[in-house]
Amino acid sequence: MTIHKNITPFNRWIGRDGYDVEWITIHYTANTYQPDLAKNEAAAFANRYVGASAHFFVDEKEVWQSVALDDTAWHCGDAPSRNGCHNRNSIGIEMCVKYENGVYSIPEKTAARTAELVLYLLEFFPKAKLCRHYDITGKICPAPWVTDPSLWEAFLMRVEENRPMTQAERKEFDALKARVASLSAKVSAGEEFDRIIRRDVAKLGERSAVKWNKADGMPDWLAPTVAKLISMGCLKGDKKGDLALTTDLARALVVVDRAGGFDR
Ligand SMILES: [Zn+2]
Repeated sequence: MTIHKNITPFNRWIGRDGYDVEWITIHYTANTYQPDLAKNEAAAFANRYVGASAHFFVDEKEVWQSVALDDTAWHCGDAPSRNGCHNRNSIGIEMCVKYENGVYSIPEKTAARTAELVLYLLEFFPKAKLCRHYDITGKICPAPWVTDPSLWEAFLMRVEENRPMTQAERKEFDALKARVASLSAKVSAGEEFDRIIRRDVAKLGERSAVKWNKADGMPDWLAPTVAKLISMGCLKGDKKGDLALTTDLARALVVVDRAGGFDR
């Protein structure tokens, strides 16, 4: 993809103090003047000290880079945060907005271009996770995707579906997607995870035999999700405290978790 550059000499730190890029954070400019253009944003940040910044600005037509990937932009704070994301371990992307009759919206083309940029960045940082500014500090940013979380979920799905995958990964992902869809349908129908787990354990065949009953000794990829669900009170286990997690279900829960599905 074409990335135009207008690197700011004012609004960034050189380097990342040894941190790796673990997060890609999505923002919106919240500008009321129109048109809100990536090129103008990058130029404004390149001209003077603002005390804030982002690595990229995206509009319906273009992507402009303002801070180098190896350097730290000032877009989400320096302190430890809700989800562990902060300036030094993240890349910040600002989406330009449409502002009409007092209402902000992210144009479809801007969302599509932002997804394209994220996919491009994931080639360099394949393990980076996506989050909104909102997920880090609670700030209502990007506002249209906070007030309507389904827009954010659609964006995540768009990225996930286009992420480069091997055939085996693609097959596994499609199966997981179907699983997640059926789980979220059940959840939105008001069922508790516990009940779903028990019912699915009864239903599923050999491959889905219970693999983990206790929170102790779970693999690294699973432990944080289980800890989160337990602390939220969503996963309680039976009278003995057995969690009855199958491999399939554990994976599905982790996918939902990584997509931000359990962040309140
Ligand atoms: Zn923001």
